Amino acid sequence: MTRIVITGATGRMGRTLLQAVAEDEESALAGAVDRPDGEAVGRDAGELAGTGPVGVKVSEDLAPVLEGADAVIDFTLPEATAVYADQCASAGVPLVVGTTGFDEAQQARLDAAAERVPVLVAPNMSVGVNLTFKVLEMVAQALGDDYDVEVIEAHHRNKVDAPSGTALRMGEVVAEALGRDLAEDAIYGRQGRTGVRDRRTIGFETIRAGDIVGEHTVLFAGSGERVEIGHKASSRMTFASGALRAAKWVVTQPPGRYDMQDLLGLR
Ligand code: NAP
Repeated sequence: MTRIVITGATGRMGRTLLQAVAEDEESALAGAVDRPDGEAVGRDAGELAGTGPVGVKVSEDLAPVLEGADAVIDFTLPEATAVYADQCASAGVPLVVGTTGFDEAQQARLDAAAERVPVLVAPNMSVGVNLTFKVLEMVAQALGDDYDVEVIEAHHRNKVDAPSGTALRMGEVVAEALGRDLAEDAIYGRQGRTGVRDRRTIGFETIRAGDIVGEHTVLFAGSGERVEIGHKASSRMTFASGALRAAKWVVTQPPGRYDMQDLLGLR
């Protein structure tokens, strides 16, 4: 039995994770954390998730609940994740991070935590997307520099970062396979008189609309043909199931930084 703490328990992913843990026979809820002064603090986490009372009250502080925990699953905001990572490292509790949009300083804090505890960070926890990363590597290597690469992603109207962490990872995978540097070659949206397309660029297009759970397409367009590699998520449960699987796996690992490619043996 893996005892799990869920941060951001009131969020879209937090509630889905509460359901996933309730449905899973190999894990148990050891804690649920909301932001300080969050309106769910003190409420039963199961009632919050609609699974019925589970006897775990939503807490506003991670540190006290870490004592009875085997792993923490975090889907919040980068600034919150960075603090939670410090606390997990101090308490010796492994961490799974689904949050996206980290800057360099926040990434460094995750790296520092990973020196003390195992930390799995993945911008997309779905098995299908992680398989897609592998396929993209193969396709980019096979097609080479003669094909223009564009990454197109769509998410619901409440998503706060763009492009999505998954889209950026897809761009990184392709850039690495083609021997390019995404930091230099990425183009985020186009407007006005842009001039002709530079062959080396990797373009990103973002759609934010309605309740789209998450859709990604990587387009390789050559002369007379194009290849499209895509993934569509229809339920957040795919991310929650992947994160739960990651939590059960990460507790068996030594300190270090991991992602879903490690878990799935796709390196
Ligand atoms: P959401 O519904 O906005 O939930 C975010 C949660 O974090 C809420 O419970 C929020 O509390 C809490 N929070 C915000 N600021 C906080 C703070 N300073 N301290 C503590 N808690 C804080 O967002 P979501 O759709 O669940 O997504 C959360 C993150 O996961 C995003 O970064 C998203 O891109 C990412 N995501 C990743 C995957 C994946 O597979 N890796 C899949 C889906 C989403 P309040 O509601 O009280 O503000």
